[in-house]
Amino acid sequence: MKNWLKGRKRARLLSLIQGTTVDDIDPLCGLVRVAQRKTECTVAPVAMEDNDHDAHSSSDDQDSTPPSPGPARLHHHEAEQDQDKEYVGFATLPNQVHRKSVKKGFDFTLMVAGESGLGKSTLVNSLFLTDLYKDRKLLNAEERITQTVEITKHTVDIEEKGVKLKLTIVDTPGFGDAVNNTECWKSVADYIDQQFEQYFRDESGLNRKNIQDNRVHCCLYFISPFGHGLRPLDVEFMKALHEKVNIVPILAKADTLTPNEVKKKKFKIREEIEQYGIKIYQFPDCDSDEDEDFKQQDQELKDSIPFAVIGSNTVVEAKGKRVRGRLYPWGIVEVENSAHCDFVKLRNMLVRTHMQDLKDVTRETHYENYRAHCIQSMTRMVVKERNRNKLTRESGTDFPIPVIPGANDTETEKLIREKDEEVQRPHLECEPEHTYGLKQDEHSSLELHSALGPDPDPETS
Ligand code: GDP
Repeated sequence: MKNWLKGRKRARLLSLIQGTTVDDIDPLCGLVRVAQRKTECTVAPVAMEDNDHDAHSSSDDQDSTPPSPGPARLHHHEAEQDQDKEYVGFATLPNQVHRKSVKKGFDFTLMVAGESGLGKSTLVNSLFLTDLYKDRKLLNAEERITQTVEITKHTVDIEEKGVKLKLTIVDTPGFGDAVNNTECWKSVADYIDQQFEQYFRDESGLNRKNIQDNRVHCCLYFISPFGHGLRPLDVEFMKALHEKVNIVPILAKADTLTPNEVKKKKFKIREEIEQYGIKIYQFPDCDSDEDEDFKQQDQELKDSIPFAVIGSNTVVEAKGKRVRGRLYPWGIVEVENSAHCDFVKLRNMLVRTHMQDLKDVTRETHYENYRAHCIQSMTRMVVKERNRNKLTRESGTDFPIPVIPGANDTETEKLIREKDEEVQRPHLECEPEHTYGLKQDEHSSLELHSALGPDPDPETS
């Protein structure tokens, strides 16, 4: 009976714990959602099979007096014991994963790219409520002409409800600022490749325990609100990087456009992305068994691309409330108001719903591509080298062999011996000629030695 109670209580406790974890850990939504669903499937049949007993057990759970053992109860007891035996306990696996992940902490690397002045730093600060650009030096127009694309990295440790996140922001100052912007995406692409290379080296090395993952998980690409759709530079950048990183297009400074203009621009940009074959980050399809609300939210998210955003680091007063926004003579635009812009959608997507997916796609698709290329070219190099060695061995051209016509190995050895004997013979008479002769002989002997390859033991010769 005690055992049975323990089993039931444990099952109840489990679902209770799981319920709270879901609410508590928002950034882990995806993981915990799945975890919860799977646990319910495993635990629920135990609770549902015997409704009668369930009623008893709930009262049992509340008052600690054990139920009196009658014949019917004994029967139930046995049945429950059988069920308890079937409960192995792997339903707790999601909890174990969850606990371990929270303990370890999370990391996320976000890249922002686009012309300067489009509001990248303002948006990043608004997204994570930090000031990541304290020490930024703004260049004047003249300096910007000659400036090359730089890559800068800022890292902050954020903690929320006990969950730690190491956030790295990679910025690309100077991108698109020069008069000639040909291939200015190259240094960005190189940076992404370098991070993959570093990771590849680390995971192929001996100490794989504390690998620092600096791979870029997402790139927010800022599109100017003032052009007609994409600019050639935007197309070039996205095409060059779409197979290396998850690109999320952003329509910058949406407050400079009317709602109708935003709609039209979004449509045009989506059309051009399709037309130029740009592969931006694809949101995963939601499961068919998801509830309607979730499905609708997911569709809205997909239709929002490119996210039209407004950034601001100032708090203003609107309708008696203090909000993050931009104050204009005609009114206030609120950053976190969904009727004004897609800021909240973007933040939810990045942090609450798709952070893990962005990391998964980086690992499973972009990094795998890089790794496959690397291994392919390494294999090609090894095969080439092996073929070269084989050829060398077959043709025997590892070292320069003077061709001795008709001479086989024994003849060569005989020749060497004769020459050595000649060298060692005492040549006391006619010293000058002999010295000359000796030098000549030494030379030929050396030549022959080298023809036979390096002496395995110079001491013995
Ligand atoms: P970055 O060079 O791309 O990092 O751009 P900054 O974040 O430094 O912003 C450049 C200027 O644009 C600053 O004066 C910001 O106040 C302003 N700004 C930033 N975001 C917005 C926005 O959403 N709307 C408007 N109208 N201005 C913005």
